[in-house]
Amino acid sequence: IRGLLKDPSLFKEDAYINGQWLKMGPDSRFPVHNPATAELIAEVGNTSTENAELAIQSAENALEGWKSKTGKERAIVMRKWFDLIVENTHDLATLMTLEQGKPLAEAAGEVAYGASFIEWFAEEAKRVAGLIPSTTWSDKRLLVLKQPIGVCVAITPWNFPIAMITRKIAPAMAAGCTIVIKPAELTPLSALALAELASRAGVPAGVINILTADAEQSIALGKVFCASPIVRHLSFTGSTEVGRILMAQCAPTVKKLALELGGHAPFIVFEDADIDAAVAGAVASKFRNSGQTCVCANRFYIHRKVQDAFVEKFARAVRAIKVGNGMEANINQGPLIEQSALEKVEKHVADALSKGAMLVVGGKRSHLGGTFYEPTVLSNVSADMLISYEETFGPVAPIIPFDDDAEVVQLANDSQYGLASYFYSRDIGRIWKVAEALDYGIVGVNTGIISNEVAPFGGVKQSGLGREGSIYGIDEYLELKYVCLGL
Ligand code: ADP
Repeated sequence: IRGLLKDPSLFKEDAYINGQWLKMGPDSRFPVHNPATAELIAEVGNTSTENAELAIQSAENALEGWKSKTGKERAIVMRKWFDLIVENTHDLATLMTLEQGKPLAEAAGEVAYGASFIEWFAEEAKRVAGLIPSTTWSDKRLLVLKQPIGVCVAITPWNFPIAMITRKIAPAMAAGCTIVIKPAELTPLSALALAELASRAGVPAGVINILTADAEQSIALGKVFCASPIVRHLSFTGSTEVGRILMAQCAPTVKKLALELGGHAPFIVFEDADIDAAVAGAVASKFRNSGQTCVCANRFYIHRKVQDAFVEKFARAVRAIKVGNGMEANINQGPLIEQSALEKVEKHVADALSKGAMLVVGGKRSHLGGTFYEPTVLSNVSADMLISYEETFGPVAPIIPFDDDAEVVQLANDSQYGLASYFYSRDIGRIWKVAEALDYGIVGVNTGIISNEVAPFGGVKQSGLGREGSIYGIDEYLELKYVCLGL
């Protein structure tokens, strides 16, 4: 790998605790593979529970020094880190494509998106402000202070190896918190490169700690984090199933929780929509990252009057998607992350076809082998098929016809999830009414791309708790303190 990097020292295989790289022996390492080639690309340190305790302690030790800096001082360090990430985009994107599989251009896009949270929250660090409400007691003054919550932990997934980390670290750091991060076992290299750049930017020892661990050890570390009375906040992005486990494990120590969990995004095309724009949005929303994002469209509700026109144009666009190794030029879709992901996609397609769905495009593994799957479109899909209610996390677009607004809103809202939703219409009255009626944290209108550091990202129902990014994102990491001052 080092040969592919402009700066080979960004390739790290050890956990980062208290500003040091933790050297672990050959028996305490786990393999990382390139999903496009199945090649072994790294052997990364498998952090012990003792070292996890040590990391929590070092975050606790660093807390006083970090939170007593001014917001402006923290912003200066964060801005340096942001600049270094942007300067090293090529290497960070290369590491990401090698461990995660997304096409190199898409990986570079994620580096920019991930870095944007550091830039944004560095600016917000200077704007944390309390409140002095007017009082009904003339002899007392009431003050509201905002203070950092303390030591935080973040557990992150493999689908956005950088952005899911920076979305949590940046507001925590800006608020004056210190943090321990446990990146996904499939994509630890991007996280470790971020730590190296943070160290070069002058982030003090203990403020950021990165604990790498394999799947089994991640569960053990999760228990340590949840049980620790030092840890005051746990932020998790991943499956709803694991989110529920962590929530239960955090109950005894009553931690504040931020959860970004699964989604099952509806994508609605009304009869007055601009069909070409809807097709472009559908491709962007569905096939980005091989369909492996929690905001990917999962169900396409197309008005019966425009169904044939939409399906024809959509199928043409999907056939043009070029599948391959993301390190090669002009690839639009990489492999799926692992074998079990491929099997889930196959199961959803087989289930739909057995219950009467029709294959429009794709529907099988790619001739490239490995975990590559053909971009797929299914029509005649109905509510009883697995794909209509379970998250597929793969490049399959199921098409379901509908006849009227009330019906489609009811179908769209009939889900345990409530993260992202999308619809296309040109009618301003309908746009307003449907946007209000969709029971989702995010609504994309006439667009398939919604994520931006300035906007609050998060879901309702079993899609999670809290919001990331935006002016609201930093509140997650701040506590309110009421001071009642007698004169
Ligand atoms: P995905 O389905 O996206 O792989 P998971 O929810 O399984 O998502 O994993 C997301 C992150 O949660 C990963 O970093 C993984 O190691 C971690 N994880 C999975 N199970 C647990 C657990 N029981 N306790 C703590 N962390 C876990």
